Amino acid sequence: MAEAPSSNTNLRLSGKVAIVTGGASGIGEATARVFANEGVRVVVIADIQDELGNQVAASIGIQRCTYIHCDVADEDQVKNLVRSTVDIMFSNAGIVSPTDQTVMELDMSQLDRLFGVNVRGMALCVKHAARAMVEGSVRGSIVCTGSVSGSVGSSRSTDYTMSKHAVLGLMRAASVQLATHGIRVNCVSPNGLATPLTCKLSGMSEEKAQATYQKYARLEGVVLTPKHVADAVLFLVSDQAEFITDLDLRVDGGFAYGK
Ligand code: NAD
Repeated sequence: MAEAPSSNTNLRLSGKVAIVTGGASGIGEATARVFANEGVRVVVIADIQDELGNQVAASIGIQRCTYIHCDVADEDQVKNLVRSTVDIMFSNAGIVSPTDQTVMELDMSQLDRLFGVNVRGMALCVKHAARAMVEGSVRGSIVCTGSVSGSVGSSRSTDYTMSKHAVLGLMRAASVQLATHGIRVNCVSPNGLATPLTCKLSGMSEEKAQATYQKYARLEGVVLTPKHVADAVLFLVSDQAEFITDLDLRVDGGFAYGK
C-alpha cells in the first residue's frame, strides 16, 4: 500500500527531483522513502533488482517514485538515467566481493568487478549528474556513499577498503571542481550495519548482524539502521547544509576497532 504523504508543511525537499542509485534495498531504499516523505517532486530509484525496485517504487507511490533499471557500471545506462533535470544525486549503489581477502590474497577479477561498481559506477553517476546540473544551471547536491572503510585500514576486505578510499577521492575532486557552479558534493560514511548486503554476505539474521556490528561503535544504547544513514543524507541534500561541501559525514557512533 502506498504511504500517505506527510502532513508536515515544512518539507525539506519540496519540488526537487532526486535520483537514488541502489534504491531497491538497504540504505538506498530507506533514503528514497525519506526523500518522498520530505516532498520531492519525484524520486527515481535506479537499480538492477527490477522486481524489488518496482515493488519499492509502488509502495512509496507512483506519483512520487519511479523505478529505472540502471547498471551504474555501464556509462550508456547512467547517461540514460540522468537525461534531464536533477537536483539531487544520491550515488549509493555498491557491492562487496563474495570472498574476503588480505592484500596477499587479492583476486584481481573480483577486484575489477568490485571497482566497476564501487568506483567506476560512482564516478559515472557523479559525472553525469554534474553535467546535467551544469547544463540546467541547477545548484544541485551530490552525495556518495562511502564507508568508515574509506578512512582507515582493515585487516581484511582489501578491495572494498581500496574502493571506498577512492570514493572519498572522487568526492574531494568533484567538490573542488563543481563549487564554481554552486554544486555541493559530500559523502555519507556509515559504520557496518545490517542490510541485505551484509546479512547475505555473513549469512547472519538482521538481529545477529546488528549485534555484531554494534561492537564496532563506541556509542551505546542505539543500533545503526538504514534510516539513520538516510537522515544524514537528507541533511546533506537539504538547504540546512547549504554551505557544506567536501564533507565526509561519518555515521558511525564513534567507530572504534577493538573497543
Ligand atoms: P544493499 O545490498 O542492501 O543495497 C545496495 C543496492 O545496490 C542493491 O539494491 C543492489 O541491487 C544495488 N546495486 C548493486 N550493484 C549495482 C549496479 N551495478 N547498478 C545499480 N545498482 C546496483 O546494500 P547497502 O548496505 O544498503 O549498501 C549501500 C551502500 O552502502 C553501498 O555503497 C555500500 O558499500 C555502503 N555501505 C554499506 C555498509 C553496510 O554495512 N551495510 C557500511 C558502509 C557502507
